[in-house]
Amino acid sequence: MSEAGRLIVVSNRLPLGPNPSGGLVVALKDAFHEAGGIWVGTSGRIEARPKQRFDSHPGLAFERFSFDLTQKEHENYYLGYSNSVLWPLFHGRADLMETRPEFLEDYRGVNARLAQMLASELHRDDVIWVQDYHLLPLAQALRDAGVSNRIGFFLHIPFPALYDIMALPNSEEFIGWLGGYDLVGLQTRRDVARLLEVFRSRPDAELLPDGSAKLGEQRIEARSFPVAIDTAAFAREAASAAASRPGVALEPGEQLIMGVDRLDYSKGLPNRFKAFARLLETHAEVNGLVTLLQIAPPTREAVAAYQDIRTELEQLSGQINGAYADLTWTPIRYIHRAVPRARLAGLYRQAAVGLVTPLADGMNLVAKEYVAAQDPDNPGVLILSDFAGAAEQMEDALLVNPFDLDQVAEAMARALKMPKGERCARYDALMDGLLREDINWWSRSYLKALRGVSRGLS
Ligand code: UDP
Repeated sequence: MSEAGRLIVVSNRLPLGPNPSGGLVVALKDAFHEAGGIWVGTSGRIEARPKQRFDSHPGLAFERFSFDLTQKEHENYYLGYSNSVLWPLFHGRADLMETRPEFLEDYRGVNARLAQMLASELHRDDVIWVQDYHLLPLAQALRDAGVSNRIGFFLHIPFPALYDIMALPNSEEFIGWLGGYDLVGLQTRRDVARLLEVFRSRPDAELLPDGSAKLGEQRIEARSFPVAIDTAAFAREAASAAASRPGVALEPGEQLIMGVDRLDYSKGLPNRFKAFARLLETHAEVNGLVTLLQIAPPTREAVAAYQDIRTELEQLSGQINGAYADLTWTPIRYIHRAVPRARLAGLYRQAAVGLVTPLADGMNLVAKEYVAAQDPDNPGVLILSDFAGAAEQMEDALLVNPFDLDQVAEAMARALKMPKGERCARYDALMDGLLREDINWWSRSYLKALRGVSRGLS
């Protein structure tokens, strides 16, 4: 173990089970091996009398510290303030926000309880890394409890524009929450610019020459660290999945366009279906020769805004299939179920086009997985929304404005016909970037920055 202080990671959901998987677990494996530490998060249990507990497992390099939520906390902290206020707002959908005083009260309450629980477990040189929008107030609550350790935050979703923040009923308090952190990590340079804009607009904040900001007595560094995937491992998984499992049954000469998204209004699925219909309408030559496979598992169904999107999409796919299908061809195959990532890997490799067209997205890992899964000798083409964080790194994709249906339809037509030489050149450039800036690069660069922060103001 190194001299560095332990790593304390806090995320809404704790990775559970004897052998937890998932991007963040892979990302933090080396860091926990080097420094040891604790991962803190909710247990997934809803209890009338919530408990907290430590557990360790011989195969894990970190201890787990979990806590339960009450039903009311689950509804107000998780479904309420996190997913009915912050999620829509940060994805540019202030119109879908549902604000209620009890949402905010329990959001603050859960973070305060977590801070109390954590404060007594900390060593002086521990560094604390807080993940995502469920836990924004945690640093301030820890500071109130007397914690002076380095505390970093990483936001996995987009950072909102100043105008959107004004729509929050507690916008002042929101900005104060950021003031507890030493390092605020965001997905893109665009997000960092929005955060600095917020500081610039405030008389109590000062932008320092080194690019950091001073809010009250706290110096906050804001930088982009685009989250990534385990590129080499995913590429291997895709090659072996494609070799061992049958893909989608296609007619000779038929090409597959594929989308994979939680059924979330931020993913732009209705626009995507409409753009596909535009392709069929304007490019008669592809009729019968192209299928859109859309995998869209349900998510957060207890939140009202998610029921509307489901109905809309079912109607649209029904209409488009009704208008264009014939006896041997169904243009859209819409699967409203989760598909395991290992299975997705093989399907990505079969798809001639990866269609990733969110209206707002912090990063979008599907875009990165699609490219990593391709056959280097005969790769498919990624169509990527300019509104996905991934677009900042993946300029060799066909970048599109997802609101412009004609542009998306034309990009599909171009991708389906793209010569192999161009496909390979684009793939090589994209894959170089994905191998260089993979998930380990992401966590290493963030933690290096966090451990390098000097506490206190000069
Ligand atoms: N995913 C999956 N099965 C599904 C749908 C999605 O395993 O049926 C995975 C997908 O491979 C990706 C993640 O879920 O790793 C989605 O991440 P992304 O950043 O694209 O979107 P998010 O859901 O985080 O908004």
